[in-house]
Amino acid sequence: MASSVNTPTEVNGQAELKSVAIMGGTFDPIHNGHLRVAVEILDHHNFSELRLIPCYQPVHKKHPIISSEDRLTMIKLACQSDSRLLVDSREIVRQEPSYTINTLRDLRQELGEKTPLVMIVGMDSFLSLPAWDSWHDIIHYAHILVVSRPNWEQDFVRELADFYENYRVESAEELKLSAAGKIYLEALTPLSISSSMIRTLCRQKASIAYLLPDNVQRFIEQNELYI
Ligand code: ATP
Ligand code: MG
Repeated sequence: MASSVNTPTEVNGQAELKSVAIMGGTFDPIHNGHLRVAVEILDHHNFSELRLIPCYQPVHKKHPIISSEDRLTMIKLACQSDSRLLVDSREIVRQEPSYTINTLRDLRQELGEKTPLVMIVGMDSFLSLPAWDSWHDIIHYAHILVVSRPNWEQDFVRELADFYENYRVESAEELKLSAAGKIYLEALTPLSISSSMIRTLCRQKASIAYLLPDNVQRFIEQNELYI
């Protein structure tokens, strides 16, 4: 059973409580836009770990055109370059539609009540939050760290604006002072890369070089994915 005690670990010579960041997505395929978000967030906030959590089957968009296993393999290949990046395959292992709220409940049980849990979402995903199952409850299980994404403005519908005003904080430090309950907005290096753009380029037999790691590019080409 998960302990509710958060034990200090040594980070840069200082005792710091464990904190876990997560980033969910379809990752169909994973690309440098995802990876740059992950490493910048780790560099800025020094979370103990960042887990990429691929969904089994997207709830709000069409079924991925390649298998969950291939998406998972590509994430594992991409994470080889940075030991702080971990892959959490629980949603794929579960083999049923992935509702974020269920994953967060799971993680909270595993991490205990006190460990800061930070859910990273791009601005486009945050704008769609009111369509997610039990979206108001998410904030009871995790903080939400909203990162900028090119071409997506902070243009909240009323209910999302109210939600944001209720929980917003101005300093990222606050994300480590409690287990959940805060929303922080952060501007990162803008990279206008998307999985859909990569899928389109593959179909057009155009190059996908430099949009994603070399080993992921090779995997796509060798397995003739997305054509
Ligand atoms: P698709 O084009 O198929 O929707 P995607 O590129 O949006 O794919 P997802 O797997 O849907 O990738 O995104 C997972 C998470 O990563 C989301 O929270 C999304 O907002 C964020 N994200 C993806 N690409 C970027 C990017 N270039 N910059 C910032 N955030 C991003
Ligand atoms: Mg997307």
